[in-house]
Amino acid sequence: MPMDPRRDAAGFPVTHPPVGVALARGAMFRCPACGQGKLFNGYLRLVDECSACHAPLGRIRADDAPPYFTILVVGHVLLPGVFLVEKIWRPEMWVHMAIWLPLFAIVCTLMLRPVKGMVVAWMMRIGLTGDDQGPRLPAPGLPPRPAGDA
Ligand SMILES: [Zn+2]
Repeated sequence: MPMDPRRDAAGFPVTHPPVGVALARGAMFRCPACGQGKLFNGYLRLVDECSACHAPLGRIRADDAPPYFTILVVGHVLLPGVFLVEKIWRPEMWVHMAIWLPLFAIVCTLMLRPVKGMVVAWMMRIGLTGDDQGPRLPAPGLPPRPAGDA
């Protein structure tokens, strides 16, 4: 099959949007390449392929980057509040735990999806599209890949 000149070797469109546009599309759960198709199939699972431009989004492996950036950002946003409340009201430790633990969990859960969208957009934009990482690992419960398979 002849290669489409409008696609790179991984199957992504060769003309990328500006970084800011790609990040905004990812944060809004849209395909970073075209902005039309959905990015996610579920809470965090990527669609295999964009329904509009057929970019193979499912090949991009964000791995631990989205939770890392989520915790980094949420920690820096909420931690000053923890210190401020402690300095002003000095509540009991159980009050801190009752307030901050659920708040951190809720905010991180809400932030993880848009952050993953932005990480995927960033990876697509800089060319980390999965073609250099070999085939996808088998789903849990399936036998591991044979030794020596890169
Ligand atoms: Zn698309």
